[in-house]
Amino acid sequence: MNVPQKLSQLGEFGLIAQLKKSAALNPGVIKGIGDDTAVLKVSRGKELLFTTDMLVEDVHFTRAIKPTAVGHKALACNISDVAAMGGLPKYAVVSLGVPATLSVNYVADIYRGINTLAKKFGVAIVGGDTVASKKIVINIALLGEAKRSEIVYRSGAKVGDWIFVTGPLGRSFPTGKHLTFTPRVKEARFLVEHFKPNAMIDISDGLVADLGHILEESKVGAVLEETAIPRVRGASLNQALGDGEDFELLFTLPMRTAARLMKSKIPGVTFYKIGEIVPRAHGLAMVAQSGLIKPLTPKGYRHF
Ligand SMILES: [Mg+2]
Repeated sequence: MNVPQKLSQLGEFGLIAQLKKSAALNPGVIKGIGDDTAVLKVSRGKELLFTTDMLVEDVHFTRAIKPTAVGHKALACNISDVAAMGGLPKYAVVSLGVPATLSVNYVADIYRGINTLAKKFGVAIVGGDTVASKKIVINIALLGEAKRSEIVYRSGAKVGDWIFVTGPLGRSFPTGKHLTFTPRVKEARFLVEHFKPNAMIDISDGLVADLGHILEESKVGAVLEETAIPRVRGASLNQALGDGEDFELLFTLPMRTAARLMKSKIPGVTFYKIGEIVPRAHGLAMVAQSGLIKPLTPKGYRHF
């Protein structure tokens, strides 16, 4: 068999034909890849969640990174955002900008990374677009669903809430966690079904920056406890507070519910209490190991 090596030899329609064969599906897909639009079932009594995320070569990844990992990350970031709202991810479209000189295998590997994760989370890949481009660009848009009563916003944190994270933080780039992480859908669904968090966000910009988003939207302040912040092995306190792309969930619960959460056990999942919500006038501060209280300023990743 004569397999074309370069995209320019395979052509756009050849590529689409290949993608269609391997695309992840789920029972909600009435029509997937292959018509002018996809046709999808919307579950009765649920709201749609809609998000998108773009990865650009030499900004978010380089050719030294395995293309399966790049594909995984592109979808995982979107799934993490749906999880942070308390939803379940359902349908995605994948758009790619690729140089015509790129090997077919490279593109196939990006899709393999996407499809493997999609199948794991029941996400169907139902369309997209491919264009010629100087750099590799991957844009995924994802639809998710949740009951209106389950949806958790950044704006709901209340004074007295306890603050939690779902895992150790820091050094996501040197450890490769930013490429290989598992989005916290299981944890989010457990929380919305049994505990109803007041506010939730996924940590992409860094703990302090993303907590800052919750505080801003909820018009409250927070006090973190230095010794309670879980760190990835080898991570300094500053790395745990600021590195970003941890893709753990950060959420707040009323004290009584929080105490119940700390007693509950689900296999493979740990919730770490890291602080409490206080009135806005107190701003954002941390109680150090020494007992001293010091103010924290959000300074996560700036895109521009
Ligand atoms: Mg997010």
